[in-house]
Amino acid sequence: MTAIAIFLTALALLLAGDFVATFGYHVPEHVFGKFHNLVHHSPDRSFVRYAIRQRQPWALLDGFLSALPYLMFIPWLAQVSVGGVVLGLGLAQAHVLWRHQEGPNYVTPGWLQTLCRRLGITTPERHQIHHHNGRLAFGDIFAFYGEPAQGWLRGLLKVKKALRQRKLSFAPAPKPKDQGMPVQ
Ligand SMILES: [Zn+2]
Ligand SMILES: [Zn+2]
Repeated sequence: MTAIAIFLTALALLLAGDFVATFGYHVPEHVFGKFHNLVHHSPDRSFVRYAIRQRQPWALLDGFLSALPYLMFIPWLAQVSVGGVVLGLGLAQAHVLWRHQEGPNYVTPGWLQTLCRRLGITTPERHQIHHHNGRLAFGDIFAFYGEPAQGWLRGLLKVKKALRQRKLSFAPAPKPKDQGMPVQ
């Protein structure tokens, strides 16, 4: 029972964390945000180093918000299994390191690719697609969040466009240029 509780708690943390991270942070960041694109999609990826070097302390908030979806469920899930929470956070961190493989020659072994495909888990190759094109391959841990996230992205882009048009229509009209006509 304990082992099952640990496993299910860890799984719940990963599923809920990636869901909130994808739909509540990652996709909206690509539409309305600034620092995720600038920092996470750069070769360095460190929010702390970026904040110090560029003197942009607000970048730290973005870094924290990217981790918050996984941390916010701890108070509830720890009541079920503390071991499960520790395992879930450990697996989430391990997946962060794994999906950001630096080596250009890295290839996920065939058996692991098959396993990830069957379980709907994002491989480093899939996550690299997202780093190359921030509008593709959402779902940091679970690939099956990718398709609904694409719909969410399209919806938010429409909202952004509508907001921009509204802002433009409220902007003061440019002053007519002096035509140089003599006043009679
Ligand atoms: Zn990434
Ligand atoms: Zn991204």
